[in-house]
Amino acid sequence: MSVQDADTASPLAPGWLAVPDDLNALHEPMWAQGVQRDIDGVLAVNGLTVSALKEQFGTPLFVMDEADFRARARSFKDAFDAAFADICGGVDVYYAGKSFLCTAVVKWVKEEGLRLDTASGGELAVAARAGIDGSRVALHGNNKSDAEINRALDMELGRIVVDSLDELERVAKIASGRGEKAKVMLRLTPGVHAHTHEFIATAHEDQKFGLSMAGDSTDQAGLSAAEEAVAAATSHSSIELLGVHCHIGSQIFEPDGFALAAEKLLRFLAAMQEKYSIVMPELDLGGGYGIAYTPVDTPRPAAEIAQAMAAVVRSTCAELGITAPRISIEPGRAIVGSTTFTLYEVGTLKTVRVDAPAAETGDTAGTPDQGGKNVTHPRRYVSVDGGMSDNARPVLYDADYSAILASRTSAAAPQLSRVVGKHCESGDIVVRDVYLPEDVAAGDLLAVPGTGAYCWALSSNYNYLARPGIVAVRDGSARLIVRGETEEDLLNRDMGV
Ligand SMILES: *Cc1c(COP(=O)(O)O)cnc(C)c1O
Repeated sequence: MSVQDADTASPLAPGWLAVPDDLNALHEPMWAQGVQRDIDGVLAVNGLTVSALKEQFGTPLFVMDEADFRARARSFKDAFDAAFADICGGVDVYYAGKSFLCTAVVKWVKEEGLRLDTASGGELAVAARAGIDGSRVALHGNNKSDAEINRALDMELGRIVVDSLDELERVAKIASGRGEKAKVMLRLTPGVHAHTHEFIATAHEDQKFGLSMAGDSTDQAGLSAAEEAVAAATSHSSIELLGVHCHIGSQIFEPDGFALAAEKLLRFLAAMQEKYSIVMPELDLGGGYGIAYTPVDTPRPAAEIAQAMAAVVRSTCAELGITAPRISIEPGRAIVGSTTFTLYEVGTLKTVRVDAPAAETGDTAGTPDQGGKNVTHPRRYVSVDGGMSDNARPVLYDADYSAILASRTSAAAPQLSRVVGKHCESGDIVVRDVYLPEDVAAGDLLAVPGTGAYCWALSSNYNYLARPGIVAVRDGSARLIVRGETEEDLLNRDMGV
């Protein structure tokens, strides 16, 4: 990336967005390993071009690199196993299925030696269909139904992550009624919240998830909800208390927040051991590892995060004089996010002229030039054949993405562009700001990388758009792992009465 070039940089672009030196180049951290331009400049996965994929499957389309998924899954497992080998013999890695789940993915997860996190009966149904052993599956959620708890027990899940005192009683009662023992982790809120480069530590928790660790909760004796839950769990013969869990946020780059949460939870385990002689053998540190959505995102290698976390677990356990619990983690986005790009076809183009933003000029009415006239700048809207129905993250979270001209290369000048969808909503933005070649035209294909996590999973039928399918590319051939919806699918549940 160059420093913004005065000739081409648009005053409308956000400060972080540089004009690329080469609009055709792929910024590697954002893409799956098998993605390259072929000899004709067409984007290809394992040699299979986007033109061929469009021909066979249409657009919009999620294109996933299967080998890349497997490699990322393995690299998390290997990096954490290595870092924690001398502490607790390795780490159990639970792939967070909510980021993207289908039976093929569960099979890959299983084959690569990972486990699976679920958060609903529907996700458990996918797990069951894929044939993963229940002992390797966890169930999360702040409001599990009795049916979901029963299903978890039917499948003999390795852990039910209990979110509240209320739920603990329900799980105990259901398990007791079945004459069984439920394997339970308690989800605690350690007062550490992390996002990207910062984390904040607070004493109190004001959110729907988890049992508060703050010492002055509702209990008369001044016990925290977390401590009450430990005491309650051990009083039930139908509960096997495995340990505690936390999840501090998502899209986190720095290990500090994870390390602080680990330390807090270890101190809690030591206190419970001291006070009640309860030894809990497991500690889950959640997910949230960040990925590159744009060229300015700089994710750390899994090994670096693993080592930082291991150092804190090692020193805290030594200080407290406790045996280290078995550690587990729950990455979702960091495994699947970068394996996938969304392929769109370009349709309508228009360019508007916009005043320079106030922050740059100190003047909301635009920049007067020397003749006193306002100077405006072009912003091109590039409409594609999907949008917020296949990627809700820009609307939901103000998430930034990037895009590239995929069906060919171009030598044209960069033009600040906004990639938008086809929905009846002005907020329907896929990529808020990106430089694309000036000659992008209807019929070109665009690829938006980093759409493996929380895109298909959050997709909708808004405006009766059919949700796109997902193709997995392996060894140069593509297969649908989830087919796209048809018009018939869209009408199927409409009872017509
Ligand atoms: C969402 C979630 C994860 C996965 O988060 P990523 O940011 O995708 O890694 C892990 N654990 C829990 C409890 C979650 O809710």
